[in-house]
Amino acid sequence: MKKIQRPGLAGIIGQPLDHSLSPFIHNLGFSLRKLPYVFVKIEIPPAKLSRTIGALADLGFIGANVTMPHKEAAVGLIDSLSPEALAVGAVNTLVVKGDKLKGCNTDIDGFVRSLESFDRGRKFSSAALFGAGGAAAAVAYALFHNFGTRNFHFICRNWRKAKKNLSRKPFFDEGFWADFVDWEDAERAVRASDIVVNATPIGMDGKKTFPVSPAAFRAGQTACDLIYNPPLTPFMRLAKRGGARAMGGLEMLVQQAAVSFELWTGEKLPVEKVRKELLNFF
Ligand code: NAP
Repeated sequence: MKKIQRPGLAGIIGQPLDHSLSPFIHNLGFSLRKLPYVFVKIEIPPAKLSRTIGALADLGFIGANVTMPHKEAAVGLIDSLSPEALAVGAVNTLVVKGDKLKGCNTDIDGFVRSLESFDRGRKFSSAALFGAGGAAAAVAYALFHNFGTRNFHFICRNWRKAKKNLSRKPFFDEGFWADFVDWEDAERAVRASDIVVNATPIGMDGKKTFPVSPAAFRAGQTACDLIYNPPLTPFMRLAKRGGARAMGGLEMLVQQAAVSFELWTGEKLPVEKVRKELLNFF
């Protein structure tokens, strides 16, 4: 009798995961590449993160994505870290090797690839980032190492907490200038920056809640929203009304997935086919 092989598993660990498109992207990639893997959602609260990560290798996982709110907590739960994940203190991809787990951060390369394709060859000396969580740290690292950014304004609802959190991360010792500002000072920080990034979930519901007017933006400025659904976010609309060029988070989503896919399988994600299918969602 022919032996039926159990497929290997990959997945995404987070909470909530209702809106995650990662299962669609990776299952499509596995199918197009004829790989024997299935990608599942693992929706768990913080209290269950340690035991979930601890069980991945025994359950037959080749790897997993990690998303909100677990990216920073996952750092302390695995055997080794890539230099980038160590530097930003956040993991979005776990790779299983035997019974060991390696933590990587593919948000960094995902952001770099998406911004390079949007603004080819451009450098940005100053940046304003809304938010100071795992994605903001990854974006700041990417801007510093790939786009020549040396001046950062982090715009946060609680700048003291944000400063304490980001200052703990090793990449904060790399020699850039950082200013932490409250919502009230957002307009000034946006005006002073060549690139403005929304690294908060504000706008996922499509509502306009940004504390800046279109006048804070200007022509020649680049605005990036990490949110990909809706495809045209309130932040992007504001920036465009002020004359800036605005990029959404869909390309970053595809590109960070492509890096994870290759780490797990050694094969390239068919990016163009995946992007085309994803656009049917919106
Ligand atoms: P995170 O670690 O939880 O950080 C979120 C940040 O946003 C924190 O600084 C948080 O401030 C702030 N924030 C949350 N809600 C807020 C509100 N209502 N008002 C003001 N500030 C608020 O999350 P993350 O991993 O950095 O992700 C941030 C966003 O980026 C999410 O929307 C995520 O979906 C998106 N993302 C997209 C991609 C992509 O591939 N396109 C990749 C990564 C992340 P507090 O600390 O005060 O809570």
